[in-house]
Amino acid sequence: MSRLPEGVLREALIDTSAISANVRHLRQLTASEVIAVVKADGYGHGAVRSARAALDGGQNGTGAWDIDEALALRRAGIDAPILAWLHAPGARFAEAAGRGIELGVSSLDQLQAAAAAASGDRPVGVHLKLETGLGRNGLAPAAYATAFAEAARLERIGRLRVIGIFSHLSNASADDDRAAIGRFTDALALAASHGLAPQLRHIAASHAAIALPQSRFGCVRLGVSIYGLSPFPERTSADLGLRPAMTLRAAVAAVRRVPAGQGVSYGYRHRTAQESTLALVPAGYADGVPRAASGGAAVRIGGEVFPVAGRIAMDQFVVDVGDHPVAVGDEVVLFGDPTLGAPPVEAWADAAGTINYEIVTRIGPRVPRREVNA
Ligand SMILES: *Cc1c(COP(=O)(O)O)cnc(C)c1O
Repeated sequence: MSRLPEGVLREALIDTSAISANVRHLRQLTASEVIAVVKADGYGHGAVRSARAALDGGQNGTGAWDIDEALALRRAGIDAPILAWLHAPGARFAEAAGRGIELGVSSLDQLQAAAAAASGDRPVGVHLKLETGLGRNGLAPAAYATAFAEAARLERIGRLRVIGIFSHLSNASADDDRAAIGRFTDALALAASHGLAPQLRHIAASHAAIALPQSRFGCVRLGVSIYGLSPFPERTSADLGLRPAMTLRAAVAAVRRVPAGQGVSYGYRHRTAQESTLALVPAGYADGVPRAASGGAAVRIGGEVFPVAGRIAMDQFVVDVGDHPVAVGDEVVLFGDPTLGAPPVEAWADAAGTINYEIVTRIGPRVPRREVNA
């Protein structure tokens, strides 16, 4: 059994070689350029290390959510193209443009603000975001023609370079996605008629990139899949040839032998059926271990899987290990790569009534990340 480093209560191991391998695999599978999406601190894996690992796997560009995330990546030395696509009014376009960050532009106002951020003879790189049916942001269909004409004008006078045109899909159904792709294709033709010739066209995130080849357009924005997680409820990571990069583990902090009928944790939602050993796991909802998973989740200790007993608390939860010889310091694996024997993160997501995305992105800052390269 592997043990945690001395003094460490809990940690998230991040296998950067898994991220690189996933990107390599997805590039081959989709035969497309990959924009690796590292928003939300790389879905909890660490944005900078994830971007570096994705670059090792042949990633072409990096997707960040906002300018702050994009600038942090640039400062950390990521010199690949970086695209930031959600902006508050007054967002620092000039600073972003000065660092070569490409701006996703969702409105005419943002288009003008991006053009105004150009300095000297250096045009600002933009990707025009189109609303094609998701009902979030992006230029409305009624504004396409005006925006394309204006973007083409700003390009001619050297203020802008339209590097990309993009949109985002609902994954509501293959038919819904195909309809949105149809609207996207029509919009690309309209953009071409206005003289725009973007080098990148992208609409697919992980789900469509894997499931719907016609969504690929030679460039895909991949988030959850580069971390080795499946965007499909009915298909596992292994089914998709992906390796989960995050392992969440803890060291048993206390063990206690108790009689039958012992109530466990707040509200006594669990009572021991017979004399038993309780092991205390020092990770709780403040660390992102969802309280809603109390009563449904399980962990692995020394090759055995034990259900969580009673309520998950802020800093800790209890596992009823029966007569198994569990000792203080033993490794408890909450989730990781199931092909290596760890419970899948999806078991936690199911128990908490959510999706794998939410579990990994919410693993809190109190949990140290340790990079491993398997
Ligand atoms: C988060 C996000 C992605 C990545 O989605 P995954 O499902 O994790 O692959 C792609 N594009 C946009 C616009 C996003 O917000």
